[in-house]
Amino acid sequence: MKAICVVQPNTIEIQERPIPVITEPDQVLIKVKAAGICGSDMHIYHGTSPVATYPRVIGHEIAGEIIEKGNQVTAFNTGDHFVLDPVIHCGTCYQCKIGRRNVCSKLLVRGVHVDGGYQEYLVLPEKSIHIIPKKLSWNEAVMIEPFTIAEQVCSRAEIVSSDVMFIMGAGPVGLSILKLAKLYGVTCYISDIQEHRLALAKSYGADEVLHASKENVSERIKALTNGNGATIVVDAVCSVSSFEMTLDYVCAAGKIISLGFNTNPSAIAQLKITAREIDIRGSRLHNNKFPKVINHFISEKLQVKDMVSHVFTFEEIHHAIELIEDPKIMNGKVVLTF
Ligand code: MN
Repeated sequence: MKAICVVQPNTIEIQERPIPVITEPDQVLIKVKAAGICGSDMHIYHGTSPVATYPRVIGHEIAGEIIEKGNQVTAFNTGDHFVLDPVIHCGTCYQCKIGRRNVCSKLLVRGVHVDGGYQEYLVLPEKSIHIIPKKLSWNEAVMIEPFTIAEQVCSRAEIVSSDVMFIMGAGPVGLSILKLAKLYGVTCYISDIQEHRLALAKSYGADEVLHASKENVSERIKALTNGNGATIVVDAVCSVSSFEMTLDYVCAAGKIISLGFNTNPSAIAQLKITAREIDIRGSRLHNNKFPKVINHFISEKLQVKDMVSHVFTFEEIHHAIELIEDPKIMNGKVVLTF
């Protein structure tokens, strides 16, 4: 079988490997059908992920079909469709015991610390997959994992429908958060510096879109919120300065959600946090969000077909990367088929 491996930063290869075999009774052998390319995959490819190790088969937005199962697997059958859960947790540390498995002290992420899903076949323990209905297309299925990220943001922000959320950045993550927050009835404003992304945001239900390089964002947010600020600010730009700016947009007693893995420090005055009792919360991966997100897909409340813009076969990985990195080509989620 073939696997897409980042051998070292900036070197990606399609390698020939033996088809993996089931060695434990709780495992399943799966045929990968489709895989999304995520910003974090691109960071691992370019060596700009602070957490990845090499060589690495990347890919964590994975959907496929079970073709064989170990004799202790009872919940799933061959032929079932599934999505991969990238989070591997120990279950015994402090964080796992208080129900925060996604920040487990021994956390491993498939496609980051251990091999992921850009390969034709994969053996996984049954606890690492979630069954999905066959009515979902493979393209829809790869959007499930990105929405677990959005669900985690909404959960960390403890959103209620009266919230006013300002999402900074209308890339794939920002737009997923927007779609989900609108599903929960939240008022959403979103900013970006690219017109086509703002147009997309508008079509996904954004209440207002802000062009961050053409208008004074701080003044506009104040004007939209009677001078108070947004109750939740989500930093999906993840730059040094975007994180600093969140404090200008959030209201007193509001929450800031950080998604970035930037290792460079931002300069934030204590007064801005303390005097207005701002909560700044990180949001990483997801904490058991697959069942909830799969239900949104099953109920058809969440429509994602319009989010996949390009599909390539996995052998075309280099073309797919070129397209993602060409700023002239507008792209949403890029999917590889296997
Ligand atoms: Mn992802």
